[in-house]
Amino acid sequence: MSPTPPTPAGAPDWARVRADFPLLMREVNGKPLVYFDNANTAQKPLPVIDAVDAFYRRYNANVSRAVHALGTEATEAYEGARARLARFLNVPGDELVLCNGTTFALNLVAYSWALPRLQAGDVILVSRMEHHANIVPWQLVAQRTGAHIRVAEILPDGSLDLDALNAAMTGEVKLLALAHVSNVLGTVNPVREICREARRRGIVTVIDGSQAAPHLTLDVAAIGCDFYAVTGHKMCGPTGTGALWARRELLEAMPPFIGGGEMIKQVSFDGTVFNDAPHKFEAGTPNIAGFVGLGAAVDYLETLGREHIAAREQALLAHLTEELQRVDGVRIFGTTPHKAAVVSFLVEGAHAHDLATLLDLEGVAVRSGQHCAHPLLQYFGVAATCRASLAFYNTHQEVEAFIAALQKARALLG
Ligand code: PLP
Repeated sequence: MSPTPPTPAGAPDWARVRADFPLLMREVNGKPLVYFDNANTAQKPLPVIDAVDAFYRRYNANVSRAVHALGTEATEAYEGARARLARFLNVPGDELVLCNGTTFALNLVAYSWALPRLQAGDVILVSRMEHHANIVPWQLVAQRTGAHIRVAEILPDGSLDLDALNAAMTGEVKLLALAHVSNVLGTVNPVREICREARRRGIVTVIDGSQAAPHLTLDVAAIGCDFYAVTGHKMCGPTGTGALWARRELLEAMPPFIGGGEMIKQVSFDGTVFNDAPHKFEAGTPNIAGFVGLGAAVDYLETLGREHIAAREQALLAHLTEELQRVDGVRIFGTTPHKAAVVSFLVEGAHAHDLATLLDLEGVAVRSGQHCAHPLLQYFGVAATCRASLAFYNTHQEVEAFIAALQKARALLG
């Protein structure tokens, strides 16, 4: 058993932080819950739950429509969430399209930017480690335009093969779609360097920040990409919230993706004048309560301090990796030194789903399966893995409990 590392100076009291998450107090199958499925969705702290509750109790109204007090309060809270998220990402608020998550954000780029521009012979470059949300929209665009998908391969340690990536950025490549952090391997890609190279070659870059925004100290402006997508529920915010940041000139040149109310200035049967970006991409009534919650989540993460969150998760990751490596027959997928607190693994002779089921009986929640990344698992030649993904509110004691549960499962399956 390894000793618990000391808390860095100025870091929050993590035991008190954990107490902000009511769900973590529950038991599963008669055991204290160990929630290690944070890459799937994160748990919500009281300030987020309270913000959503207060919205419905005190000022529920539609946004940008009514002049009455509730409508004004709801609109201010919704736009306040945009401003907070923009500050969190370090981008201007009027370049941030609010939407229901990364999947929508990436499809918005596919349908509004790529579909009208790409043509036969063009290439869309994606990496082997993408989530399906950053593969399938490009395949749909390719089918309709005659463009091709090219795959940037990875190395056995789960890092991107940067030489191969550079070599793949030929003149036909119009767009590069890349995860900032892999949801399966935890690999943190050097997006700043990659985007600089892509820009030099005139390639538009789309970065999927789903797994980066909750864990890294993020500065989207400094990355130098063209599009950056985030999803709120992995950042301790409600489900059905997220955003796409895009350079203003790109947003202005893109046609709307979905038509309806809120995205217009003037409608007649002779034609419609669209609203300015980002509103022209936000048709219909949004998830107002969700964004109120996301605004609270952003405040919460900023109050904890993103450098403290990152340090805490790295300490937990080091502990988990060290303990896991000691378990007989364990294979870890993704071993680059620069990775987020996501550990995919298998135990020799055990199926991932059987392992996850036995872990669940011990109160431990991990994800098993293909993690919406079939091509990546095909590369490793496995049908499924288990994935333990950590958040700052996890504890070193939970790491020990997870390892004990895994040893028990291994003994039963072996
Ligand atoms: N991209 C990555 C890397 C993810 O991990 C996920 C969710 O697991 C997504 C995209 C899709 O996010 P959402 O379902 O919130 O749109």
